Amino acid sequence: MAPSRPPARPSATSAKAAARDTWTDDEGVRRPAGEVHAWVPGQNQTVCGVPLARAGLVRFPHVAFADTDPATGAHADAVRWVCPRCAAAGGRAHGAPRWERRDPRP
Ligand SMILES: [Zn+2]
Repeated sequence: MAPSRPPARPSATSAKAAARDTWTDDEGVRRPAGEVHAWVPGQNQTVCGVPLARAGLVRFPHVAFADTDPATGAHADAVRWVCPRCAAAGGRAHGAPRWERRDPRP
């Protein structure tokens, strides 16, 4: 089946996917599976601070983190769990603040 690309969203970040497991789709492309975090290329940890190597996470520089959202993502077929902290950090932000709001200063 032809993958239908979701409309380009003005993503707040260029976060890609990092996942615990891998599967290969019909086109022979590696896709994230299982537990998925957001990861920014060039860093050695996830957006939520998990060290990739220590956690055994596989990087997917060709898969946007936004595409792993089971609700809307194009490559979420095998995704079992999306890290809420990574998601909250802007992986699929739509106008939401990137970080938790702190107590307003007077
Ligand atoms: Zn995470």
